[in-house]
Amino acid sequence: MGIHQPGPRSRQLMAEARKLMPGGVSSPVRAFRGVGGEPLFIERGEGCRLYDADGKAYIDCLCSWGAVILGHAHPSVTMAARQALESGSSFGACTPGEVELARKIVDAVPRVEMVRFVSSGTEAVMSAVRLARAFTGGTKVVKFEGGYHGHSDGLLSKAGSGLATFGIPESPGVPASFAAETITVPYNDLEATRQALASLAGEVACVMVEPVAGNMGVVPPAPGFLAGLRRACDEHGALLLFDEVITGFRIGPGGAQKLFGVTPDITTLGKVIGGGFPVAAYGGRREIMERIAPAGDVYQAGTLSGNPVAVAAGAAVLDVVSQPGFYERLEELGATLERGLRESAAKAGCRAAINRVGSMLTIFFCDGPVTDFASAARSDAKRFAAFFHAMLDAGVYFPPSRLESAFLCAAHTPADIERIISASEPAFRAARGW
Ligand code: PMP
Repeated sequence: MGIHQPGPRSRQLMAEARKLMPGGVSSPVRAFRGVGGEPLFIERGEGCRLYDADGKAYIDCLCSWGAVILGHAHPSVTMAARQALESGSSFGACTPGEVELARKIVDAVPRVEMVRFVSSGTEAVMSAVRLARAFTGGTKVVKFEGGYHGHSDGLLSKAGSGLATFGIPESPGVPASFAAETITVPYNDLEATRQALASLAGEVACVMVEPVAGNMGVVPPAPGFLAGLRRACDEHGALLLFDEVITGFRIGPGGAQKLFGVTPDITTLGKVIGGGFPVAAYGGRREIMERIAPAGDVYQAGTLSGNPVAVAAGAAVLDVVSQPGFYERLEELGATLERGLRESAAKAGCRAAINRVGSMLTIFFCDGPVTDFASAARSDAKRFAAFFHAMLDAGVYFPPSRLESAFLCAAHTPADIERIISASEPAFRAARGW
């Protein structure tokens, strides 16, 4: 298998980084352990292009794990962040910008009547679980196999994303008593969810779901699954938590809840709402959110929460995505890419299942359909790695793990999509060899 060789500067930086940071990285999947080889150091981005430390350009299909929906260094986001920065980077006090971003979110997302800003998706979900527990009196959380909800102690069991990449079912360092509060059932399995709720009568604080799964690769909800979760939660007095850290403002202005017409009690957001800066949020019905301190008694705080530079960038992003036709164009690009990849795989004689929702897409190197973690996990690691490295050689940067979503952004043009498709045929051929 051909392994993409980074240039000398990336290799030199990695050698130094390994001495200074565990695995040389600030977040595990960046180390390319799921695909082998050496990671690239990215020095600069512009539109849908990434430039590595050796000056090689790539078409970016990672888009900062979905956070960058307008492309890198988008002029209006850069201008908004620069203007805010010139007035000071942080005050630890109320600022006008957070009210503006809160207003845009509340106007766009159904039944998010109030939001609390935090700095990462992990923090948003962790805080939302505390709120759900306080509100319901239950302690248990029902989540789905292959769902990733950040790295907080209780939520790592059978998680997707980096844990799935590295085959870590549970993390050392999480007390068994914490893990015992989380019950995991297969995604898209309404019956198993109902049974879990029934057997834990009254003990469940929330059912937590990625309404379109992104962290076991893209897996759409089966028809009726989300509506069924809503009904099951209502029957058992549990809250329904949609983790829309990926899907919020990614698959449409109101996230998955608007697209599928199912309203959760609590929503977590991140990625897109920060425009590439560390902003995340949790929100929901007023009566629930008013339990948060200082309006209520559930404590949660943050020195840099609602940071003025970050919220200014986020607000600039939401202005652009709310323009007419924004998501329709992304859908068109996504559909063209999906069609082209299918044709390339067929021409190359490589078996692959492709799942896509809007600008989120995963190629699974196995027969379809892929509907849950068990079917996603059949995707062949060696074949994915061969595909990934062949694409890098051809100047296309896919996520460095087989169980992740690729993302498109508004800066991709039809010509970029064509380039990705033409690179994919030889890459599928390289994958077929395995
Ligand atoms: N929830 C979901 C659905 C995610 O995809 C992620 C991260 N990919 C998180 C939570 C955690 O967010 P963060 O990495 O910002 O802590």
